[in-house]
Amino acid sequence: MKSKILIINTGGTIGMVKTEKGYAPDGEYFRKQLEEMGALKADIMPEWEMIETKDLLDSSNMTVRDWNEIGSLIAVNYRKYDGFVILHGTDTMSYTASALSFMLENLDKPVILTGSQIPLCEVRSDGRDNIISSLLIAGSKKVKEVAIYFGGSLLRGNRSMKYSADGLTAFVSPSYPVLAEAGISIKYDETHLMKQGSEDDFAFVPFKKVPIGVIKVFPGIQFDLFESIMTENLKGIVIETFGSGNIPQNGEALLPIIEKAFSSGAIVTVCTQCPQGTVSLGTYETSLALKEAGAVSGLDMTTEAAVAKLYYLFSKGYGRDQIKKLMEVSLRGEMGSIQ
Ligand code: ASP
Repeated sequence: MKSKILIINTGGTIGMVKTEKGYAPDGEYFRKQLEEMGALKADIMPEWEMIETKDLLDSSNMTVRDWNEIGSLIAVNYRKYDGFVILHGTDTMSYTASALSFMLENLDKPVILTGSQIPLCEVRSDGRDNIISSLLIAGSKKVKEVAIYFGGSLLRGNRSMKYSADGLTAFVSPSYPVLAEAGISIKYDETHLMKQGSEDDFAFVPFKKVPIGVIKVFPGIQFDLFESIMTENLKGIVIETFGSGNIPQNGEALLPIIEKAFSSGAIVTVCTQCPQGTVSLGTYETSLALKEAGAVSGLDMTTEAAVAKLYYLFSKGYGRDQIKKLMEVSLRGEMGSIQ
C-alpha cells in the first residue's frame, strides 16, 4: 500500500512569485503548480495532500507561535498520515527543524523540512527535486525523526545550519554525518538514522514564549553592556564562545554577570562559534570561569538547537537543576556526549 504524506506549506521562497515589492508567497498559485507537476503523480510517488498554515511566511518572520502551529498540525494529523513534508523558507529552517525535534516527543514517523533557494515558478528552481525527493524520503518508512532534505542531502534537523545564502547546497551538518544522499538512488546511512521510534506514545509539547538571549563573543566585547539584561526575566542564555568554550578574560568582567544571571535563575549554555568540534569547559583558563559561574556545556550543539532545547525544557516546566542536567544530555540526537 502507498504511503500517505501530508505536505504542510508554511511559505518561503519555494512558493513565492515575483511581485512589485520583490518575491512574496502566493499559496493558490503554488498549489496549482504542484497539482500540475506530472512527477508528483508518478507511480513511485506516495499519495499526498497539502494544507497551509494560517499565514504563508517569509521564514525570517517565524515566531514561537508559528512553530506551535506547525507542531499542532502534525499532532492533529499524526495518525492519519505516514509522514510529513514541511515546506519552509530556508532562512530559519534549522531553527524550526530543531524546535519540532523537541516539541514532537516519541516521534515514530518522518518529518522532512524542505524549501528552495529559487522559487518553483522559475525555470532553474531547485524546488522541484527538493519536493520530489522529500516526498520519496517521507514515504520510504526509513526515517523516524525530524530532518532537512536540501540539495541532495538529508540532514538531522537539530544538527543542521544554513550555510549558504545563495548556493543550492544551502545546509550543512558539520558535527553529524549526512543521513541520506540522493544521487542516482537515495542511499540511507542506516547507522546514523534514529534507530526506531519510541514505543511510548507520541506527544506534542507546545512551546511557551520563554525569554531567551544569545550573545556572540568577539575580541574587545564589553560585557558590562549586557548586565542590564541579566534580570529575573531572562530564563536562558546561549553564549557563542571561541573554540572549545573560551571567552576573553577582560579583567574577569563576565564572571559576575554570568553569576548574576545564574543566581536569578537563568540557564547559561555555552556553545562554540566553530561549526565543528565541541565545547570543553575547563580545558583552558579562559573557559574555567564559565564553568565556575554555573554555566552548562552545549558541547557540539548548534546555537539553533540550544535555543530550541531551552524553549522545550522551560515549556515542560522543569526546575533549574533538571534543566541544567538535561542541557548536557542528548534528548533527540542533538549533541554528542561528554568525553
Ligand atoms: N527569506 C526566505 C525565507 O526564509 C528565503 C528562502 O526561503 O530561501 O522564507
